[in-house]
This record gives sequence, structure tokens and C-alpha cells, in this order.
Amino acid sequence: MEPIVVTIDERLANPGDTVPVAGHIAQDSYSLGEHEFSLPSGIDYDVVLTNAGEGILASGILKAHVDGTCDRCLDPASFDVAGEVDEYYLFEEPTTEDGTATDEDEDVDFELVGEDDTIDLTGALQSALIMETPYVVLCREDCKGLCPTCGANLNEGDCGCAAKAADAAMGESPFAALKDLDLDAGDGRRR
Ligand SMILES: [Zn+2]
Ligand SMILES: [Zn+2]
Repeated sequence: MEPIVVTIDERLANPGDTVPVAGHIAQDSYSLGEHEFSLPSGIDYDVVLTNAGEGILASGILKAHVDGTCDRCLDPASFDVAGEVDEYYLFEEPTTEDGTATDEDEDVDFELVGEDDTIDLTGALQSALIMETPYVVLCREDCKGLCPTCGANLNEGDCGCAAKAADAAMGESPFAALKDLDLDAGDGRRR
């Protein structure tokens, strides 16, 4: 992601001041784990910066249309992301009451305003995108996936493997003989 750096100027000099920051990022792809996603129309963000006294609060929304691959059938799968942007940029490194720096191991959820009075929204936008990317991507909720036997896309029809496998299992069972019983005397097609 190209860095989105915003300068904290006099518009945000006093607590309560707000500045809207909206824009478009011409990023065309990203990856998450094993997944590769493309962004045909980039990323749009709409964030409000607020001077919250101790720092700058960035909150808003990130939107993107994402093209990927269905995890079950490998066909193209698309989804829309609307991720919440929420990041706090402190003016100064917080210290504990005795004046020492906070423990590095603590799970701290903030960044710092840069020495040049800038904040970098890149990380906050990136995590909004990642957070809203589904763990399992499906072309549709009830995607039937691929046949484990022949690899056919089961959304396009039944390849017959499941029926064959059921028949084979039936052949080994003690009820196999039942298959040959002509329960429906009127049906001449039955063997
Ligand atoms: Zn699918
Ligand atoms: Zn099959």
C-alpha cells in the first residue's frame, strides 16, 4: 500500500478540532495468507481526524471491491469490503506514573504522531481491509465445491461419483441383496 501520510496542522491544533480525510488508493492487489486478491477499483477511504487531547483519533470507513477465488470450487469469487478504520495516534509516548516508559510487552493499541507532525494512516487502512476480508472466500454461500473423486465442479451438475460411491458401499454391506429386490413390480427398468 502506498503510504497515506497526513500532516497535523493548525486545523487540528486544539482538542475537539476535526479534519476529514478522504481519498482513493490505486492499489490493485493484496494477499492474505495463501490468498491473492485483486482490487479492480482500488480502495476508497473516508476518515475523520479528531484532536482528542492526548492525540489524534482517526476513525472512519474503508471500502473496496475485491476479486478472489472461491475456496471450494476455485471459480472467481467477489465480495465488497466495508472496514472500520479506528486508530489512535498519541502526541507523546505514554509513561507510567513513576515516569518510566511503558512496558514494551504490553499490548498497546496506539501509534505515535511523527516528529514532523504527521500521522501515517497506512497501517490503520491496511488492517481495516484485512479485518474485513473473509477467512473463507466462497463464490456463493451454498457453493457445492469440487468432486473429491473426479474434480468436476458440482455447481455445474452432478458428476455421478457420489452415487457410484454409494452403490459401491452398498455392494459391501449385508443389505446388498436388498438392492436386487424388485420392490416396484411395475417398473420394468429395474434390474
Ligand atoms: Zn465456489
Ligand atoms: Zn465426480
